Amino acid sequence: MSTLNPAGWRPEMTSGEAGAGGVPATFTGNRALMLEEPLIFEIGTRETTGVDFDEVAEDFDLGPLTRSAPIGLAGLSESETVRHYTRLSRQNYAIDLGLFPLGSCTMKHNPRLNEKVARMAGFGDVHPLQPQETVQGALAVIHELADWLVKLTGMASVAMSPKAGAHGELCGILCIKAALEARGEDRRVLLVPESAHGTNPATAAFAGFTVEGIPATSEGRVDSDALIARLGPDVAGVMITNPNTCGLFERDMKKISDAVHAAGGYVYCDGANFNAIVGRVRPGDLGVDAMHINLHKTFSTPHGGGGPGSGPVVLSAALAPYAPLPVVKPVDGKLRLVEEENAADHQPDSFGRMTAFHGQMGMFTRALTYILSHGSDGLRQVAEDAVLNANYVLRSLDDVLEAPFGASGPCMHEALFSDRGLADGFSTNDIAKGLIDEGYHPMTVYFPLVVHGAMLVEPTETESLDVLDQFIGALRSLAIRAKQGDEALKTAPHFAPRARLDETLAARKPVLSWQGE
Ligand SMILES: *Cc1c(COP(=O)(O)O)cnc(C)c1O
Repeated sequence: MSTLNPAGWRPEMTSGEAGAGGVPATFTGNRALMLEEPLIFEIGTRETTGVDFDEVAEDFDLGPLTRSAPIGLAGLSESETVRHYTRLSRQNYAIDLGLFPLGSCTMKHNPRLNEKVARMAGFGDVHPLQPQETVQGALAVIHELADWLVKLTGMASVAMSPKAGAHGELCGILCIKAALEARGEDRRVLLVPESAHGTNPATAAFAGFTVEGIPATSEGRVDSDALIARLGPDVAGVMITNPNTCGLFERDMKKISDAVHAAGGYVYCDGANFNAIVGRVRPGDLGVDAMHINLHKTFSTPHGGGGPGSGPVVLSAALAPYAPLPVVKPVDGKLRLVEEENAADHQPDSFGRMTAFHGQMGMFTRALTYILSHGSDGLRQVAEDAVLNANYVLRSLDDVLEAPFGASGPCMHEALFSDRGLADGFSTNDIAKGLIDEGYHPMTVYFPLVVHGAMLVEPTETESLDVLDQFIGALRSLAIRAKQGDEALKTAPHFAPRARLDETLAARKPVLSWQGE
């Protein structure tokens, strides 16, 4: 490989072509602080490494496991590695850079106090296989967080181990399946509203149920009459999101739960939108039997690249006996893990195990820190401010963007718009790409499916009025440009590291290397 400059540049990489908007290309391909970054395999060499290994002994032989040829890993020095990933991270968007309006995802600020506590040696350095006597504090964190989640939701118990919202859905549905089996009933149908997140029907199908859709009313809520009319001896239960994905509270929830229970079914609630009602509404009071809570949404733990998700599932008394192992329980004055060996004494009807160990310990520590630093009154204020901010967005923009359910009353924590009224040939996608040029991650687009060209904006409670006003100004200007037919919007983004891609082609035949191979 040829010599590298700090940006990983090689002579053959310079295109010499004009950049976006006729601006001359730079020698490096960089544009000021926007740095071009090749693939790690294009800049790495076999000769370089950031790690010192001992010399391999001459007679070292693992038999058939011994490698006979290099496996082509890219070698970089430590500084080159750090720079590669730091440069890539700068081409990304993050909640630490600005408002992240992705609806349904609750991209709120992650308080640094959470990080400080999670890194304390007593939490950060423990190992899941340590003797339980030596990790009583860690078990107490799981136990205390579980207690908060049970109290906040008004449910009987909670399964802490699921590792994401979708994993929590599977946990809840497997509890329902186990409860039906215990009753000796073979109910195969799960009713799922058409506005549901894709993970709901996927979970139901994965667990072996048949999914039947329930339509939405013109108000944007579940058609409870249609749902209740469909109940019968073949229906295992319903999966309802509340608040729903149209940003509205399902007012008929109790009526639906009562009818489902009377017909022998169970109620699963997708609790991804719990942020809108935490401290205000207890799902247990609405007749819910199982609900996942995304700690990475409502309880401010990082999403995805910032850390793993976590999806504890709260359970009603009817489903609690079937919860997966392990469970943390006080036994003889000490906190104990109920696992396969002692399940017969403490959790005999458990449906089994979903994870190797106890769940996402680092997320439990962060979520409990968040809960304790807010207190119950602070959590209630979280919900109130999240709803206030979303209504501010909704009412500040409903004169330039159609709000399909604007007449259904105040929204919950997210504002929903459609692409109706944009100029011919302009769509939600153009506004989303325009937002990139304005320095924002786009909102959630084309979801929920019940709205044409949906734009789902969730500002969260952690944004100030000034930040909201700037975002609203940006979205307003884009809506006006799309209504006036501003052709430049159709090719946005113009200022991002990459221009608008053919998204189908990019997904099916991605061009990943610098040379376009
Ligand atoms: C985020 C979300 C999920 C899935 O949660 P993950 O943690 O991403 O697996 C399910 N339903 C709704 C409504 C969501 O917003």
